[in-house]
Amino acid sequence: NFRARSAYKLQELDNKYNFIIPNSVIIDCGASPGSWCQYISRKIFPSKRVDEDVDNNLIIAVDLLPIDPMPGVKIIQGDFTELVTQQKIKDLLNERHVDVVLNDMAPNFTGTHFVDHVKSMDLCECSLAFAEHVLKSGGTFLCKFLMGESESDFRNKLKSKFKKVHYEKPHSSRDKSTEGYYVCLEFNKNITNGLT
Ligand code: SAM
Repeated sequence: NFRARSAYKLQELDNKYNFIIPNSVIIDCGASPGSWCQYISRKIFPSKRVDEDVDNNLIIAVDLLPIDPMPGVKIIQGDFTELVTQQKIKDLLNERHVDVVLNDMAPNFTGTHFVDHVKSMDLCECSLAFAEHVLKSGGTFLCKFLMGESESDFRNKLKSKFKKVHYEKPHSSRDKSTEGYYVCLEFNKNITNGLT
């Protein structure tokens, strides 16, 4: 009863690391058709009276494609890599810091692995740069990527900014053999700001 099977990947990762928790600000990049948001809203709005909980929670979903409305989820249709879209997210945040940035974006596949890998890593870099601006200290960043040669540079970058960086390959994504996820915990804002 999810809009897409991708929900089971998030569920598996969250069962292991428990980063989707009530009273959070969560940004879901590449959110269409919306199954991750369904998982999130079911977990953090347990009362089913979303209006009682919205004050403390903020879920923002972004995608190039439309997303059918969902209680408690603010939807932005646009290209995440464009500043105008990122500004719309910041407007909704209204200065609030973010607990979790999720990136399940996938490029339009060309079928040439190297090209697809590079496009995927560009989306990873873009979401990380944004996450660094908005995440609170201790925050979580979850990022899908297509395995390939520039992945280790990206992983090293993640390790310099988060206390814990876990490589994960959820069972539910086993069919897509080159897809992996990084679950990055405990964002260290000071390092990013060059204060340490
Ligand atoms: N997590 C989603 C769910 O559970 O329903 C599935 C996401 S799907 C695997 C990948 C999505 O990334 C697609 O809907 C695609 O439109 C989106 N996407 C790819 N590039 C994007 C970009 N530059 N900006 C916003 N969304 C993008």
